[in-house]
Amino acid sequence: MTGQELALEVIQRLKNEYPESDCTLDYDEAWKLLVSVRLAAQCTDARVNVVVQDLYKKFPDVDALANAEVSEIEALVRPCGLGNSKARDISACMRMLRDEYGSRVPEDFDALLKLPGVGRKSANLIMGDVFGKPAIVTDTHCIRLSNRIGLVHDIKDPKKVEMALWKIIPPEEGNNLCHRLVDHGREICTARTHPYCDRCCLNDICEKNGVD
Ligand code: SF4
Repeated sequence: MTGQELALEVIQRLKNEYPESDCTLDYDEAWKLLVSVRLAAQCTDARVNVVVQDLYKKFPDVDALANAEVSEIEALVRPCGLGNSKARDISACMRMLRDEYGSRVPEDFDALLKLPGVGRKSANLIMGDVFGKPAIVTDTHCIRLSNRIGLVHDIKDPKKVEMALWKIIPPEEGNNLCHRLVDHGREICTARTHPYCDRCCLNDICEKNGVD
């Protein structure tokens, strides 16, 4: 099986297994996803979804958050950990949206990358989930599973994994595949325990690299 053939088979099987996979961060406006993605570093999506409720009650739009003191933001986001650096990034990011983009999130990958606290992973997530553009989000699940399955080989750097996946995944499939890899990584191909290969839908085609 070529890399592309393997990728297409993985995409199809995970589609069957997780037809409803989606982003697990709650948001109803693009800027809120930017905030949540920053808060989600080293924190669970479930906790972020709770913490942002009070944050948006107090600061309901980009301008309100941009005008807030960093210390006010920090007080509310502290339960997500790394409160000071996350609050500083969120404040600077909202200020840039307010001052340079009319308080809107730019629909441009390179512009997103220039926002404080936004890396390739976050920029891809915004492009895919908010704007429906081709995107590959190389989070910890995507990197672990891509290596185990054999979609990439011994590549751990997120950008290198992303570039390798672009070569074998149809662009329009990337975003949803990454959501499904997250679900599969949480339920079956887990990081902390031995993966449950015996009940995995990819068992017969997975290379099981690094799995004893
Ligand atoms: S067969 Fe095992 S290693 Fe491969 S994806 Fe499934 S759980 Fe992960």
